[in-house]
Amino acid sequence: MEESKINPAEEPRKLNFLEEIIESDLASGKVESVMTRFPPEPNGYLHLGHAKSICLNFGLAMKYGGKTNLRYDDTNPTKEDTEYVDSIKEDIKWLGFRWEKELYASDYFDQLYEWAEELIRRGLAYVDDQTQDEIREGRGTVDKPGKESPWRNRSVEENLRLFREMRDGKYADGEKVLRARIDMAHPNMLFRDPLLYRIKHTSHHRTGDKWCIYPMYDFTHGQSDSIEHITHSICTLEFDVHRPLYDWFIEKLGIWPSHQYEFARLNLTYTLMSKRKLLELVQKGLVSGWDDPRMPTLCGVRRRGYTPESLKMFCDRIGVSKRDQMMDIQLLEWCVRQDLNARSNRYMAVQDPIKVTITNWEEGKVEWFDCPLNPADPEGAKRAVPFSGELLIDRADFMEDAPRKFFRLKPDGEVRLKYTYIIKCNEVIKDSEGRVVELKCTYDPSTHPVTGEWRSVKGTIHWVSVPHAREIEIRNYDRLFTLANMGEVPEGHDYKEYLNPESLVVTRGYAEPALLDDASGIAVQFERTGYYFKDKDSTPERAVFNRTATLKDSYKPE
Ligand code: ATP
Ligand code: MG
Repeated sequence: MEESKINPAEEPRKLNFLEEIIESDLASGKVESVMTRFPPEPNGYLHLGHAKSICLNFGLAMKYGGKTNLRYDDTNPTKEDTEYVDSIKEDIKWLGFRWEKELYASDYFDQLYEWAEELIRRGLAYVDDQTQDEIREGRGTVDKPGKESPWRNRSVEENLRLFREMRDGKYADGEKVLRARIDMAHPNMLFRDPLLYRIKHTSHHRTGDKWCIYPMYDFTHGQSDSIEHITHSICTLEFDVHRPLYDWFIEKLGIWPSHQYEFARLNLTYTLMSKRKLLELVQKGLVSGWDDPRMPTLCGVRRRGYTPESLKMFCDRIGVSKRDQMMDIQLLEWCVRQDLNARSNRYMAVQDPIKVTITNWEEGKVEWFDCPLNPADPEGAKRAVPFSGELLIDRADFMEDAPRKFFRLKPDGEVRLKYTYIIKCNEVIKDSEGRVVELKCTYDPSTHPVTGEWRSVKGTIHWVSVPHAREIEIRNYDRLFTLANMGEVPEGHDYKEYLNPESLVVTRGYAEPALLDDASGIAVQFERTGYYFKDKDSTPERAVFNRTATLKDSYKPE
């Protein structure tokens, strides 16, 4: 992975618990090589939490010379769609990973069906006619054993007949289910005769109308892993109670022994990572789509200007733990700044302009300055920046009644215009409402950065030449939510109340002309302001730039 390039000084870190397990399995000969899988359900777009799972599954296999399958966990046809299937592949490729095989749990429907009949034949599964509610009630509670279904002791023949009839479409949704016959008093609730199949007369995005019964997660995941000889099936912590059942099916069916390991899911401050809620934001129009640059989806952060390298750096830094973690989004922002600071091209752009007129500049004269695209590489590629007698500076860089420590422009004060001359402000011009509209300044020709004498002033500000300025649209994005822990929305409140009303502020900006020729393909830095990524809404007439991150954190750590 790319991290080492970005942070060459970093010490090698110690093994995480999954690496320890893998190294010990390889050393003991328990496994010959590592095979992992990434198993998304195609019912939404991938988010940052999935990026962590992807980095882990693909990263571990790569590290140990193994392989990773992409397996769609597509057993719930009502919510799944090929739109999601395609976006998931695009996102994984964008992150820079390549899967060994593209597979679908639905590829295994025939095999799973056979295994279900096998369990029936061995008295380990039965068809239950109870309603959903009866089944739920019959399950008991943690302290109270469940009640056996009146249909639990049907003969093998009857169960086989009914199950086949279920498959053949004889019954309506919910009329019957297939359950494992385990133990209605088992301390692990999941063992109280778990559901294996339910009836759903719904077309499937791959199998069409071939099936009207669909297997449940627990009857699918372990067997799919086993079919693919997945050695380390990594999933999030909430599945730890499912592990005994995962093992039970593999043992009873006598199939290849895959093993499941759990890690803590990623939670991020000011962010939500539930596909269901993200879908609601999209459907209610509270964001512009799955790829709204404020969304924690991979297509969202990509559009915002996050790089795969920054996400991998983040995933590497947060590590893997067995306890739930709430990560600070500032770490993610730090990672993207690290990466872009090293690689992004610099340009000047002004967002809230004040005009500066250089009164001693020869009328119509233009001087071009060669400026480095990246200061980390002063000998590298350059861009040409035009200087003239009519300039724009940012309003924030001028102050009329400035305190002593204000080192930018003030009346009778001096400042260096980045890459060029020192100027002095001689006159402040205001409109009828008292708003500053123009500054009359003089430049000091002896301060030319190459041919002039060195003279230091305390402040340097960015600027743009008016006759050369390109008008652009700037979308300043901020965090989507105002509440740090979106997992703890107070009782009686809805998460949507915490949408940040200032998460998008659109302004007009003026940029130096070279910006529009930038071909780097990654976000650029607007000097002294932030990182900005060209948006797909750009037209030849008007480029649109999304703020990826500010240069400095605008938030104080809690
Ligand atoms: P959601 O709750 O957002 O719908 P999910 O777990 O249902 O997520 P899947 O498509 O089933 O989504 O997830 C694919 C893989 O990604 C699973 O192995 C899952 O454990 C993992 N994953 C999902 N969310 C996170 C997260 N926040 N952190 C780490 N891994 C995650
Ligand atoms: Mg899921």
